[in-house]
Amino acid sequence: MILRQFISRGVVNSHLYAPLKRPQGSQDMARPSSDLAAFRKIFSNAQNIAIITGAGVSAESGVPTFRGAGGYWRKWEAQSLATPEAFSRNPSRVWEFYHYRREVMLTKNPNPAHLAIAECEERLGKQGRTVTVITQNIDELHSRAGSKNIFELHGSLFKTRCMSCGHEAANYKSPICATLEGKGAPDPETDDANIPVQHLPRCEQRGCQGLLRPAVVWFGETLDSDILTQAEQVLESCDLCLVVGTSSVVYPAAMFAPQVAARGIPVAEFNMENTPATMRFKFHFHGPCGTTLPPALERHKNETK
Ligand SMILES: [Zn+2]
Repeated sequence: MILRQFISRGVVNSHLYAPLKRPQGSQDMARPSSDLAAFRKIFSNAQNIAIITGAGVSAESGVPTFRGAGGYWRKWEAQSLATPEAFSRNPSRVWEFYHYRREVMLTKNPNPAHLAIAECEERLGKQGRTVTVITQNIDELHSRAGSKNIFELHGSLFKTRCMSCGHEAANYKSPICATLEGKGAPDPETDDANIPVQHLPRCEQRGCQGLLRPAVVWFGETLDSDILTQAEQVLESCDLCLVVGTSSVVYPAAMFAPQVAARGIPVAEFNMENTPATMRFKFHFHGPCGTTLPPALERHKNETK
């Protein structure tokens, strides 16, 4: 059972880190295995595979994730711009930031980890098996790689939502509006464009003209409950769970993977670091997921189609 109180982005990490540092009760605390053949045997029998992905998968495509040392855009911490308060104070600045992020994505491509997941979904689909991606990433690289079953917990850089009528729409325009053309440079010396609010992206629903915002989940906002419910159903019915490019003490994996492991379902981590939660899981494969994931998900000799 997923804990609903953790659905607000702003509080997830601080609430979950502490309990995960200590081993609990009857969890299997044996050191996780890095035996690929053993993983592949379980993989070949799995009917419903859930794959939780995080920032590390995007980072391997060169997407700025605005974490750690690279957490700044101009002189602001990126996290301070990803809030509803920042947007209501200065929608021009926040739109410059998101315009920059959208434009950067035009130069990035899915990497071997995205492609391996997409290929696996298509192949297993023909065998009546399912692969579902649950991601915190907002860059749409999973869908560009060809994945179809995707739950984007944090929305997308390429969707907008109207502040007036609430309409959500896909939006791939470049630039998203004329006044943002050439704006959004990340250099700390760059001056704000100070675009008047009426010239920022506006709703195109008939007669609305409301201000659009990026349809992403900002800090302090709650996740879409429909998406969360569906993600929970996937996790409650999966018989194998992969955690890719995110440590299992960091949201979103911290929110989901321990509950899956507690059901006795094998969980396999693919990432660059060991964490306290790693010890709860059956497998840990160390290294860039673009390297470790393709051989883990490739066709197994038992697959007949
Ligand atoms: Zn509208």
